[in-house]
Amino acid sequence: MHPTDLRKLFADAAGHAAMYRQSLSERRVRSPKPFSEVGADFRRPLGDAPRPADEVVDELVALAEGGIVASAGPRYFGFVTGGALPAATAAEILAAGWDQNAMSSILSPAAAAAEQAAADWLKDLLGLPSTASAGFVTGAQGANTVALAAARNHVLAQAGWDVETDGLMGAPRVRILAGDERHATIDRSLRLLGFGSGCLELIRTTANGVIDLDDLRGRLAGQTGPLIVCLQAGNVNTGHSDALGPAAEIVHEYDGWVHVDGAFGMWAALSPELRDQVAGLELADSWGCDGHKWLNLPYDNGFVFTAHPDAHASALAYTASYLVSSGEREPGDYAMESSRRARGLAAWAGLQELGRDGLREVVDRCCVLARRFAEQLAAAGCEIGNDVVLNQVLVSYGDDAETDAVIADVQRAGVCWMGGTTWRGRRYMRISVSNHLTTERDVDQSVESILAARSMLPQTTTGRRPAERAPSSAGPE
Ligand SMILES: *Cc1c(COP(=O)(O)O)cnc(C)c1O
Repeated sequence: MHPTDLRKLFADAAGHAAMYRQSLSERRVRSPKPFSEVGADFRRPLGDAPRPADEVVDELVALAEGGIVASAGPRYFGFVTGGALPAATAAEILAAGWDQNAMSSILSPAAAAAEQAAADWLKDLLGLPSTASAGFVTGAQGANTVALAAARNHVLAQAGWDVETDGLMGAPRVRILAGDERHATIDRSLRLLGFGSGCLELIRTTANGVIDLDDLRGRLAGQTGPLIVCLQAGNVNTGHSDALGPAAEIVHEYDGWVHVDGAFGMWAALSPELRDQVAGLELADSWGCDGHKWLNLPYDNGFVFTAHPDAHASALAYTASYLVSSGEREPGDYAMESSRRARGLAAWAGLQELGRDGLREVVDRCCVLARRFAEQLAAAGCEIGNDVVLNQVLVSYGDDAETDAVIADVQRAGVCWMGGTTWRGRRYMRISVSNHLTTERDVDQSVESILAARSMLPQTTTGRRPAERAPSSAGPE
């Protein structure tokens, strides 16, 4: 391809992305077409002959437009979703353009260097030990898996068992505990590591989904042998965090490994107002954190840290005759993948772009806006299902069917997008404020759309008391 044509091709692609980003605030949030239609649009015969690159990209843009969700925008409140920061997005474009392999510092000194620098900043921001090992992974699922692999290596080594050589068959039993409100990715990580989900012992949780310390203490009484306990910073429904410090101290009395799944909740550590919610975070043995949620990096970006670099590398690293190391930290020794994208570039750029104050401001603002949602909806007679202490809000609009009807209507209207959840046996709208672009105006517009949807419910009387609610139509969950 001619150099000017290549420049035009890349510039046009970036131009499409920029135009899209600039339209986010005005766009309908939901996908213009459902998957069934977009799927049919994409499914066409693969030709035999090569085609010009620009023609292919133009066609891709035209087809994809029907199925793009404005999840990067300021009124997407589904799941826990950030919108990639400008410099981080540009860095991601460069990562693709440079096509670097972040496996080793020989393959790409720049990719390895960006990771190393970003890892140091992240540990400092989150208050983790500066000696902790860091791996750049796809998200909290990847982080939980890598962290628990390190945990498996460490607690079995303490029992005189080399799991990397001898595997799990015949190994001493590892006791694994987690709250009954843990994120479902913990179960999947354990399954992948050869611990069936039936190995997991559940710790009771209290009203906002945090573990009951007395239950943890009671279960561990008399404990001996390998032990892993998974804690959580930021429950996906309520935003609440386990009492990390006290829980870690209890587990450490029994020489257990404490893992914290802090996909988004760990960022509370940044804010003087919120920090108490994750007090003792630094006492854990490993941490899983997302980059593409509250840090607003592009997909896919997550981080795993451990206080035991040797266990981390022993669980993950591999060698081969043709692989050489520069003698420095090798990125591939701390992640599951071998070859992979240079994720550290976007992390480096996003952190520099926001700076310490900017990131703290995003976290604080999201929490203020979550409270604004809760206050306005409560004032209009809606029922808030959690104590809003972070960026998550649960809202009910009556019985389960009424709540689901409001959620569906709001999604259809497209001003904003929120999903539903089942919490303590009831349906709720789940609002997560995690995007750096979201403003008070976005919240107010969204509340207006929600209240309009609620007013469409048959025989709605605002402010009905729970006793007047129709019985739930849903079975037990
Ligand atoms: C989102 C989330 C995960 C999974 O993260 P991915 O980014 O989807 O891999 C795990 N745990 C918690 C608490 C989460 O919020």
